[in-house]
Amino acid sequence: MNQDYLYRGVIDDLDIRFVIADCTQAANQIILSHDCDPVAAAILANGIASTALLSALLTEDEKYTVKWKFDGALGLVMADCNAQAHLRALISSPHLASSIQEESEIWGKEGSISLIKSSQSKILNSGVVEANFHDLSQDLAFFLSFSDQIETGIATVVNFNPDPHNPIRNCRAFMIQALPDCNLERFDKVRGKLADAHAKQLLAQDSPSDNHFEIILKYISEDLVKQPQFSLEEAPPPQFKCTCSQKAIAQVAKSLGQDELDDAFKTSNALKITCQFCNTTYEITKADLKRLT
Ligand SMILES: [Zn+2]
Repeated sequence: MNQDYLYRGVIDDLDIRFVIADCTQAANQIILSHDCDPVAAAILANGIASTALLSALLTEDEKYTVKWKFDGALGLVMADCNAQAHLRALISSPHLASSIQEESEIWGKEGSISLIKSSQSKILNSGVVEANFHDLSQDLAFFLSFSDQIETGIATVVNFNPDPHNPIRNCRAFMIQALPDCNLERFDKVRGKLADAHAKQLLAQDSPSDNHFEIILKYISEDLVKQPQFSLEEAPPPQFKCTCSQKAIAQVAKSLGQDELDDAFKTSNALKITCQFCNTTYEITKADLKRLT
C-alpha cells in the first residue's frame, strides 16, 4: 500500500502557501533501482523529496525537470515530476562513498541547478542558477526565490533503516512560498523556523498523528500568529513512475545519427538501450525505428 502523500494549503493570516510531501516509498524504489550507496541515497532522496513538492505547482500535463550538476564526484542528479506526482530520478554516481575521502569532494568547486517547466515536450520556461548550498533542496529553494522570484523555503528529512531492501525510513519535504500579499519580513521569520532542527524533528516523526501538519504549521508560525488558520487540500500522492516507452527510446536511438546507427546494425539486429531512470532495457530494431519515429 502506498503511504506516500502530498498536501498543499495556505496559512491564511500570513499569505503563505505550503506543500508537504512524503515520498518514502517512491524514494526506496528509486534508490534500489539505482543501487545507491548510503551517501548517494541521502543526496538523491533529498532531490526526490524536493522535486515532489513541485508537482503541487503544476496542472494538467505540465512537468518539471530539475538538473543539479556539480564538478565534484557527484556529477549529475536529475529528477522530474508531473502534476500527477509521477516521479523519477537518476544520479550519475550511485557509488559515491567509495570515490571520495571527504565531503567536499562530493560537490567540487562549482555547481548549477536548472529547472525546465514543460508541457507535452514544449518548454514553458527554463532557467539556471548557481548551486552552492551543498544541499539539493536548498539549491531548489534558492532557484525558486531567485529565478522565479517567489520567496521559498524548503526543509527535507531523509532517515535510514538498517534494511537493504527498504533502506529509507522516511523521506519528507515541506515547502513554504510567499503569496503576492505576503509580508516578506514575516515570511523570513517563518522560513527561519522551518530551517531549524525542531521543525525537522517534527517533520521526521515516525508515526505522525492526524494533526501532524497542524503541529508543524503552528510551530513555524507561532511567533507571528497564535492559532494559524489554514486550508489543506490533498493532491495526488508521489509515486515512482517512469515515462519511458519503446517509442521514446526509439526516438533517442534515432538521435544517434545515421552513421552510428548503420555501424550498430552491422553487428546486431537490435540496439539494446537501457532507460537511465528505471533501468528497463529496450531492444530497438531497424523496423522499430521506421515504425516509431
Ligand atoms: Zn524508464
